[in-house]
Amino acid sequence: MTGVRWGEEGMEGRCDGCADYYPLDAEFWPRGRGLRFCRACTNERQRVIAARRRAAQVAYNREWLAANRERVNERRRELMRQRVLTDPTYLERRRAYHAERMRKWRSRQGEAA
Ligand SMILES: [Zn+2]
Repeated sequence: MTGVRWGEEGMEGRCDGCADYYPLDAEFWPRGRGLRFCRACTNERQRVIAARRRAAQVAYNREWLAANRERVNERRRELMRQRVLTDPTYLERRRAYHAERMRKWRSRQGEAA
């Protein structure tokens, strides 16, 4: 805060962010942050910082995935293979799924001919 004044509720501090005056109380001034910004401004700054960090992380992940696409796909295929080999219910489900796809495909082929 920059400056204090005597308000209705007693001493009030002026927030560096919104330039408004608030009572010198933990409700309006978050502790342990040097009393520079009011609670609302602190929350907003934290939100902006978190959003910026999240956006940077998303961009980094997208870039990394694009650069390692083949490695990622190979890992995914390997996990799929392992699951097919170790999980009989999953194998049955995959077989049913592919049988259904084949049935639809064959009926489409029949229509075209
Ligand atoms: Zn403020």
